[in-house]
Amino acid sequence: MNDKKIIILPSELHKFVFCQKQFYFDRKLKKKPPLKRRVLIFIGKIKHYLYIKRGYKKEHLLKAEIPQLNAMLIGRPDAYRIEEDMILLEELKNRNGPRNGAWDSDAIQALAYAYLLKENYGKNVKIVIVYKNRKVEVPYNETLLMRHLNDYVAVVSGVKHPTAEKSGKCRWCQYQAECE
Ligand code: SF4
Repeated sequence: MNDKKIIILPSELHKFVFCQKQFYFDRKLKKKPPLKRRVLIFIGKIKHYLYIKRGYKKEHLLKAEIPQLNAMLIGRPDAYRIEEDMILLEELKNRNGPRNGAWDSDAIQALAYAYLLKENYGKNVKIVIVYKNRKVEVPYNETLLMRHLNDYVAVVSGVKHPTAEKSGKCRWCQYQAECE
């Protein structure tokens, strides 16, 4: 049995949930995304840098084990505030949210940060995703998070092939030629 823990970053989990194949190609081929997407990523980084809220901890490094997957989650939540009986987590996104709820990749990434906070502070977490057009509250759902983490570990360790369906998300993908 391999005792080496799999390290999972919430930002990588976000990529994985967005498109398992793009995540897989990124690890193997490392092609740069199109210029427009790189510019948006850069603007997003600046916005994160400038996002400071009074009373909130910003991008504080947290780690938590996931023993059942022999994995370790490591990440820096955008902003969180510790209250007496709970933690408020805010995740900032440089794009609009969908008509209802949050994008799946954003919700699962936020759940990963919430898991880190829950494990480190032993408190329930209220999750809010801050989109350009509105704020969305995401209910904490550890079963859903573990399902995605389980898939992630299976793909990373080569037990499962990545799967994805073509859709509007392919428009800005640098792997259209490789993707069947
Ligand atoms: S072309 Fe579409 S399905 Fe294929 S890797 Fe890119 S985003 Fe994913």
